[in-house]
Amino acid sequence: MANADELKLDYPLGDALPASGATIELAPGVRWLRMPLPFALDHINLWLLRDRDESGRAGWAVIDCGVANDATRAAWEQVFAQHLDGLPVLRVIVTHMHPDHIGNAHWLTQRWGCRLWISATDWNAARTANQATTGVGGAGAAAFFAEHGLVDPEALEKVRARADYYPSMVPQVPRQFRRLLDAQTLRIGAHDWRCIVGYGHAPEHIALHCAALGVLISGDMVLPRISTNVSVIDIEPEGDPLPLYLDSIARLRALPDTTLVLPSHGKPFKGLHERIRQLTQHHADRLADTLAACRERRCSAADLLPVLFRRPLDLHQTTFAMGEAVAHLHALVGTGQLAGRLDADGIRRFGPQDDAHARG
Ligand SMILES: [Zn+2]
Repeated sequence: MANADELKLDYPLGDALPASGATIELAPGVRWLRMPLPFALDHINLWLLRDRDESGRAGWAVIDCGVANDATRAAWEQVFAQHLDGLPVLRVIVTHMHPDHIGNAHWLTQRWGCRLWISATDWNAARTANQATTGVGGAGAAAFFAEHGLVDPEALEKVRARADYYPSMVPQVPRQFRRLLDAQTLRIGAHDWRCIVGYGHAPEHIALHCAALGVLISGDMVLPRISTNVSVIDIEPEGDPLPLYLDSIARLRALPDTTLVLPSHGKPFKGLHERIRQLTQHHADRLADTLAACRERRCSAADLLPVLFRRPLDLHQTTFAMGEAVAHLHALVGTGQLAGRLDADGIRRFGPQDDAHARG
């Protein structure tokens, strides 16, 4: 079911979706595939671009990989057998380090003897996350969520128990990579694609724009139906990612409004400028809600969940929602409108700046 905002976007392919292990051609040499995900968000879009290596050999560049599980690898095998026109995969380009994007990068690069291309920051973050617990699982994450008011012992125990969350979906990260940088141009097959960095969702997310085709591979930075997750996580507890995210999508306004946007979740769409306007408005509204709630009484991030997310959340969604709530609180601390203080019960609550001053 479309919401009012979504009706303002144009989906040129209507309701067409590629079946598992199949592809849909979106532009010459640009193919769309979808892989299953084991979350409430149940799919990811991946892309195939006709490519040519340095020796002139024809093949494909793969953009993003899906999580490392049997279902996804079986779907990949079907794509290899039926949808590559008998040509090899020549490189694997990954927009960012999240498990649904990089999960199979090691398997794919081993399978085809080719290289991973990714930003250096996200390669390092993936290598670290693969060997340690970050963000959504383990003792550090549980302590972070507890400080922000998540007190349900059962939920905290589940977070603690998810120490292997990242490695379970990303068992290995390639030992070597080629570095993607903002404004770098990649020649992929017959076309130039420009790398566009984005912050606030992942450490150094890379989107790809092809002016000749009028196509933007937006990764997770611009999604048509849901808003991109912008979270503070336990390894960077004072982080302020929301202004970084909003600045990043504002930069994408420089692209033509006629651009066909290929998002990692949802359907390919047109209406980039409208979608950026909607997302900017969405966060302005959530910031206003956050400020209003904190002016009424000092609030922890957990206190804000029913204000910001007016629906029941499972544990996976709760951890993301907590990170988002902290991000909105920190954005308002950044502008001087709120101040946070650790209370005697060990919970950090946020209230108006002057209130914090008055109470010392
Ligand atoms: Zn992501």
